[in-house]
Amino acid sequence: MRNRLEPRRATIDGQEFVLLEPEQYERLAAARRQHGAHSSQLSRLREQLNAALRRLNAVRRVLDETVTTCETTPDCAHCAVKSALES
Ligand SMILES: [Zn+2]
Repeated sequence: MRNRLEPRRATIDGQEFVLLEPEQYERLAAARRQHGAHSSQLSRLREQLNAALRRLNAVRRVLDETVTTCETTPDCAHCAVKSALES
């Protein structure tokens, strides 16, 4: 088996080329497609995470800017949400 780090090279008309066997090329093309799919999925996940963090920060701002209802409400939603965010 050929060393994967040292592919065969050829110079044609003064330009250097890397030579791959057909199955090596197919594996490389498949790996590139898979990498592209993973990169795309990662971008979508990053966007979703950033959107979730923006919403979370908006909730935190609301909680910081509003008063609690602990004295009048037995199960204070304000404190329950704040506690959940800190857990
Ligand atoms: Zn409360």
